[in-house]
Amino acid sequence: MLLVNIGQLLTLRSSSGKRGPRRGFELKELGIIKGGAVLCVGGKIVSVGKTKDALRDPWLKKNRKRVVEIDCEGQVVLPGFVDSHTHPVFVAPRLVDFEKRISGATYEQIAEAGGGIRSSVEGVRNASKNLLAEKVLEALHEMADQGTTTVEAKSGYGLTVESELKSLAAIQDAAARWPGTVVATLLGAHVVPKEFAGRSPKYVDLVCKEMIPQVAKRKLARFVDVFTDRGAFTREDTEKIFEAANKHGLGVRAHVCQLSETVLWPLLRFNPASFDHMDYVNEDDIPQLAKRDTVATLVPGANYFLGLEKFPPARKLIDAGVPVSLATDYNPGSSPTPSMPFVLSLACTHMKMSPAEVIAAATINGAWALRLQERKGSIEPGKDADLAVFEAGDYREIPYWFASNRCAFTVMSGTMVASTGPAELG
Ligand SMILES: [Zn+2]
Repeated sequence: MLLVNIGQLLTLRSSSGKRGPRRGFELKELGIIKGGAVLCVGGKIVSVGKTKDALRDPWLKKNRKRVVEIDCEGQVVLPGFVDSHTHPVFVAPRLVDFEKRISGATYEQIAEAGGGIRSSVEGVRNASKNLLAEKVLEALHEMADQGTTTVEAKSGYGLTVESELKSLAAIQDAAARWPGTVVATLLGAHVVPKEFAGRSPKYVDLVCKEMIPQVAKRKLARFVDVFTDRGAFTREDTEKIFEAANKHGLGVRAHVCQLSETVLWPLLRFNPASFDHMDYVNEDDIPQLAKRDTVATLVPGANYFLGLEKFPPARKLIDAGVPVSLATDYNPGSSPTPSMPFVLSLACTHMKMSPAEVIAAATINGAWALRLQERKGSIEPGKDADLAVFEAGDYREIPYWFASNRCAFTVMSGTMVASTGPAELG
C-alpha cells in the first residue's frame, strides 16, 4: 500500500535520536514532511519520505502494479492514536449516576449509595463472555472510527477470579476480530467488592494469589493495574500486588492521585509503565518521575464528564520533564467517550498543552506507556503500518474541531478501514 500526496505527514521521528519517551520540548517535535508518502508492505512501514521521491523509487517502479496507491489529496496523516487507558468490559451505561451527579452528588457519594464501579459489577458477573466480547468489539470499532489503532483494555468490573478471567477472555476474543492492536490489563484491584467489605486484605490476597497467577498462566494480560486512592486500595496494598505481578512476569501500572495525593516514589522500584490520572501529584515525586520512563497518563475526559474545575497539571509535569501521554479512560462511570480527538481538544483548552504536544502525547508517548515504543507511535521504517488519515489541511485542526469526527480512515497493521467520518477517499 502506498499513500501519496499527504499534505502533512506527521512522522513523530525524534530529531535528537535520543532514546526514551518524549519530554519537555521534545513533545513538540512532530517530524512533519510536507507532500509526504508512506509505503507499507506486509503490515509494516517500509519507507517514508516525499511523494516525488517515492514515485521515482526503482523498486516501486518495478512493482507499481502490485501496490495499491491511495491519493491522500493533501490531507493529514499521523500514527494511529494509542489509547493507553480504557475500561471497555461493561454491559450498560450508568445513567442514574449521571443524573445524580448533575443534581450535585459527588463521585464518592454516588459510590456509597451503591452506584459507581460496584454498580457495573453485577452486569459483568451475570453476562456471558460472548456478550462482553461484543461490547468490547463495538467500543474498538468506535475508537478506530476516530483514529485509534492501539487500545489498552482493562478488566475490573468482575472482581471475582472467574469474572475477571471472563472479562480478559472477552478482550482477547474481541481483539482477535479487530485489525488493530489490543493490550490487556488485569484490574482485579479496581475496588474491594461488597462481599469483602471490611476484609480488604483478604481481597488483596485473592488478587495476588489467585487472579495474577491464573492470568499469567493463561497469558490473558500483559499488565496488572491497581486503583490506588481514597476508597480503593492503599499504597501498601499496591506494593503487594505489584510484587505478585512482577513475580509472574507481568508489567505494572496504576490509577493514582485522582481523588487524593499518594506518595509515588516507593512504587518506582517496580518500574511501572505508567501512572494514570495524576490530578493531585505530590511535588516531591515530580523530579523523580522526570528521571524515569514511567509515563504520566492524563485522562481529562474524566475531569470533563465529572464536571470538575480542576484538570491534571500537564504544564507543570511537562515543564519539569515528566513524560506525559493522553488517553480516553473510556468507562461507563466517569468517561464514556471513545474519542481521542476530543481528549486532545480538552488537553489544549483545559490543560494548556499545545496542538503539537497533544499529538505526541497521544501517539509515541502512548506507545511508551504500553511499552510498545518499538512497534507503535511513529511513522518510521520497521514499525507497524498503523496510520490515521484526517480530513484536514493542518494537524492543528484535529484538536480544533471538537466533537466532530474528521478521521477519514485508518490503516491497522496494513489493513485499511474506512471511518464513518465525512471523507471519501479513492
Ligand atoms: Zn481508569
